[in-house]
Formats: sequence, C-alpha cells, structure tokens
Amino acid sequence: MAGASLAARLGADAKVLVIEAEERPGYHATGRSAAFWTESYGGPQVKPLTTASGPELDRLGVLTPRGALTIGRTGQERDVAAFAETYGNVGIEVSTLERAEIAARIPGLKPEWTCGVLEPSTCDIDVAALHQHYLAAARKAGAELWCRAGLSAAERVRGGWILTLADGRRIGCDVLVDAAGAWADAVAAKAGIRPLGIAPYRRTIAQVAIEPAAPDSLPLVLDVAGRFYFKPESGRLWLSPHDETPSSPCDAAPEEIDVALAIDRFEQVVDRRVLRVEHRWAGLRSFAPDRLPVYGFDPNDAAFFWFAGQGGFGIQTAPAAAVLGAGLLLGQDGGEVDPEPFGPGRF
Ligand SMILES: Cc1cc2nc3c(=O)[nH]c(=O)nc-3n(C[C@H](O)[C@H](O)[C@H](O)COP(=O)(O)OP(=O)(O)OC[C@H]3O[C@@H](n4cnc5c(N)ncnc54)[C@H](O)[C@@H]3O)c2cc1C
Repeated sequence: MAGASLAARLGADAKVLVIEAEERPGYHATGRSAAFWTESYGGPQVKPLTTASGPELDRLGVLTPRGALTIGRTGQERDVAAFAETYGNVGIEVSTLERAEIAARIPGLKPEWTCGVLEPSTCDIDVAALHQHYLAAARKAGAELWCRAGLSAAERVRGGWILTLADGRRIGCDVLVDAAGAWADAVAAKAGIRPLGIAPYRRTIAQVAIEPAAPDSLPLVLDVAGRFYFKPESGRLWLSPHDETPSSPCDAAPEEIDVALAIDRFEQVVDRRVLRVEHRWAGLRSFAPDRLPVYGFDPNDAAFFWFAGQGGFGIQTAPAAAVLGAGLLLGQDGGEVDPEPFGPGRF
C-alpha cells in the first residue's frame, strides 16, 4: 500500500519504478489487514493522517459505514472515560454509552461489560479495491512495477544509486524510497543507511462462524484494555487477540495459541458459541520506536527517503501519507498534515 499509493501520488511528476520482491504486490501486511478506518486507531498523533485520508477514501467508494464501540468491564469506567476524553479532545465524534445502549448494539453481551465509547465515523475499507486503484493510477501516470525484483544491494554513486536486484539486474536512480514495510530497516542497511529501529510485530486474525450468526449491523468492537477486537464479515466474524509478538521480517503465519486466545477473549465478551475457525492469518505491523510513521529524507543522505513504520494504520492513512510523502519528495505542498512529527531526523 505504501509503495503503490506513493507511486500513484507522484504520478507524472517523477519517473517512478516500484520494485517488489514478491510475485505480486500486496502479499505481506497490505493483504492481511483487518480493513478498518477508525480515527482513534494509532493514537492522537496518527489521527490527522487518518482524518485527512477520509475524503479521498470516500470519493474512491472504498468505505462502508461500520461504527466502532470500545468497551470496558465494571471497574474500567475510568479507562473508558479517559479514552472518550483523549479522542474527543482531538476532534473525533465520540459518545459514552450506558450498558443498555451497548447491549443493544452487541447481541449476547455478557453482564460485566458495562461501559463503552461509540465512534460512529468508523468504516470498513475495501483494501483490495484501494490497492488496485493506486496500482492502476501509478501505471496510468507512467510508473513501472517490477515484481520478483527484490533489492539485493544499493551502491551510492554521485547523483544517486546503482541498485542490484535479486535476479542480478542493475539499475540506476536518483532517489531510493524505502517503503519496504517490515523490511524497512533491512533495506536501509543494504544501502548503508543507519537503521532507525523499525520493528515488526505479528498480529493474528481468525475468521470464525458463530451461533447465532453475527449480524452485519455489529460495530467494530474493541477492548479498552487492548486485548481483542472483532467485527462482522459477511455473516462471519473476524477476531483478533490484539497480539503484538516481536518478529523478524518474514512471511508471518498464525500460531494456534493466538487463535485460541482470540476465541477465548471473544467468548468472555458475548454469550455466543464459536462453531468453527474457517480461516486464520497473521501479518506484520512495523513500528518505529515512538510508534509514529517515518516519512522524509534521511538526515544523513538526501538521496534516501523513508516511507515506513505504518504500524496498524497504513491502510487508513494511505491517501494523506502519500500526499505528504510526494510533497516532500518533490519539494511541493504536502497537503494539510504537518510532516514534522514524522521526520526521520527525530531519532
Ligand atoms: C493483522 C493486521 C491487521 C491490520 N489492520 C489494519 C486496519 O484495519 N487498518 C489499517 O489502516 N491498517 C491495518 N494494518 C496495517 C497495514 O496492513 C499496514 O500498515 C500496511 O499494509 C503497510 O503497508 P506497506 O506497504 O508499508 O507494507 P507491506 O504491505 O508489507 O509491503 C512492503 C513490501 O515491501 C516488499 N519488500 C520487502 N523487502 C524488499 C526488498 N528488499 N526489495 C523489494 N521489495 C521488498 C515486500 O515484499 C512487501 O510487498 C493491519 C496489519 C495487520 C498485519
């Protein structure tokens, strides 16, 4: 998503080649997301990127209203109130709900879940359609995409780089953009650039059938203590135990224990039986040490551009991040979001 959206936004203003190590783009984090747009996700400093991305996602027709409900048990009222205050203060429409109002939205809710915050603006994102849109827009603007073209080495020469690809091909470029997700630090190291400590963490999702079936009207339900979320998907449910297991960059696979945790935590929330697990997957969410994304030229080399560390919000922030990134790369207006908090020079 990072590479495709940035290539699309750069458009005809630059000569762009996207090199992708896999057979096809979108195989890693982008193809494994939970596909939601929720303004509170990622924290108050990520919110400007998410909010600024809303209108373009809407215009592209990839959003479906869902609503989010962040819930707590008896005893967690303060955490729920703090959540409402934090996100209300940054301009997100939130409302605190009583137990009866929560139970009306989550059929079978167990009695101990008594407090919650509704975030009505949350939507589902059609991630595949968004990704395809960016790939097509990039292609239309003249960008090339080479797959099975992993970067093996990057040699710094006067005026830019000589890149060596996995199949031995060598190409020259002026600027190397690092949009390699979980491999962002590894790519920097190949180019002799100091890594920033962008670390991948595994996150698991299980698609389950439950009895009675999940109504499509169910909101995205998140735990105020960050131990689960779930949402409906065509009569099924997507459950996550909100795991964040450190990982090396790899083709992430789900662990049985995390799927079991997801089910256990779900069954602690609602009086519903999980009939079967139909599908399970895991992906890597990559975070810089301060959990904010990293967008900008490396402070020690103006021919290396960071576009990484998109954590758990790289889809919902893609439009605004691409505007910001393209603006910085081209020395033009980077849109409404202040790039300062995201500069790589902060490390
Ligand atoms: C389970 C899960 C749920 C999520 N839910 C959401 C959500 O609901 N909403 C949201 O906004 N975000 C969500 N995210 C986060 C989102 O998926 C990521 O932030 C986003 O996909 C990152 O995009 P990317 O392009 O940076 O990374 P990737 O999609 O991983 O792409 C990086 C690409 O770089 C390529 N690459 C690596 N090394 C090299 C090399 N040496 N040479 C060439 N190519 C290379 C890889 O093959 C890969 O295709 C979720 C993530 C996970 C794992």
